[in-house]
Amino acid sequence: MIEKPEIKSMNLTELTEFVVGLGEKPFRAKQIYQWMHQKLVESIDEMTNLSIGFRETLKQECVYTVLKQADAQTSALDGTKKYLFLLEDGNVVESVLMRYKYGNSVCISSQAGCRMGCKFCASAIGGLKRNLLPSEMLEQVYRIQKETGERVSNVVVMGTGEPLDNYDNLLRFLTLISDERGLNIGQRNLTVSTCGIAPNIHKLAEEKLQITLALSLHASSQAKRKELMPIAAEYDIYEVIGACQSYFEQTGRRITFEYSLAAGVNDTQEDANDLAELISGMNCHVNLIPMNPVRERDYTATDQASANAFRQKLEQKGITVTVRRELGRDIDAACGQLRRRHLGNEG
Ligand code: SAH
Repeated sequence: MIEKPEIKSMNLTELTEFVVGLGEKPFRAKQIYQWMHQKLVESIDEMTNLSIGFRETLKQECVYTVLKQADAQTSALDGTKKYLFLLEDGNVVESVLMRYKYGNSVCISSQAGCRMGCKFCASAIGGLKRNLLPSEMLEQVYRIQKETGERVSNVVVMGTGEPLDNYDNLLRFLTLISDERGLNIGQRNLTVSTCGIAPNIHKLAEEKLQITLALSLHASSQAKRKELMPIAAEYDIYEVIGACQSYFEQTGRRITFEYSLAAGVNDTQEDANDLAELISGMNCHVNLIPMNPVRERDYTATDQASANAFRQKLEQKGITVTVRRELGRDIDAACGQLRRRHLGNEG
């Protein structure tokens, strides 16, 4: 079966070629691009400056990807909203809208499921279903912006999936979402979080983008990290830290290290000391996250006192620390939990 071209993942050059191939004038591509990426329409029928005949041709000749909302939960505490979106093939992915003083931030998924196998993460449980298309990543942002009627100012690729395991589609997504002819979200307002696929961190650095790279570190020694994150067996902690250092050198962008504190696992004063040593001298900051207990996993969050002590130790050593505000604590906010619950319902 020959698959039809999927236009929402195309850049303007490709879309122009496609449109010209259908016997239309090149400027039609600009119009379609604007309908897709600025006006965020849900169907080709809504592209009202195209003739009805051409709209019919388009419906015949291409795929127009739109995500359907399958479920949503809103936090009564802070308005954080979690969305479950249905993909064309029946897979589901989740996205989260967080409202901050500086604007609305959307956390998107990059894959349906994940094959990285981190021991504390709900998304790892069912394994990888498939990579998301660039359009399916865009659509998570588009549907949320359309539904709220509020501009999305920041996007973090921190939902289900490992973005650097879906490299080409991720890159296309980043280019399209920051395109001034689209939503035009500045690259500095985009963050990609990775478990640490070192060669792809180097590759990303070469792209010379202005996006923020976040590394999920979660441990300060190779031995501990390997226990929590199987990927560390392939690219060890020093190799990954080295890749982050070179990302900074090539892009000038400060690295974020994510560190989820799990009681009795990685939260002692010694852990904090080792962490400070590991990243000392780097232009970075550490984002401490309370481990979010997942039903199928047996990790629990560090208590407040130990978390504060951990933070203080890092600060004493001259490391900048932020503590992730816990948004949406009353909804299934940990990575992949809404999706898990949904899949669980299906048996
Ligand atoms: N695959 C990417 C992005 C997805 S996860 C990555 O590994 O970075 C986004 C962040 O949440 C990662 O830092 C991940 O390690 C962390 N995380 C996953 N499950 C968690 C949980 N139960 N509690 C706290 N943090 C978790």
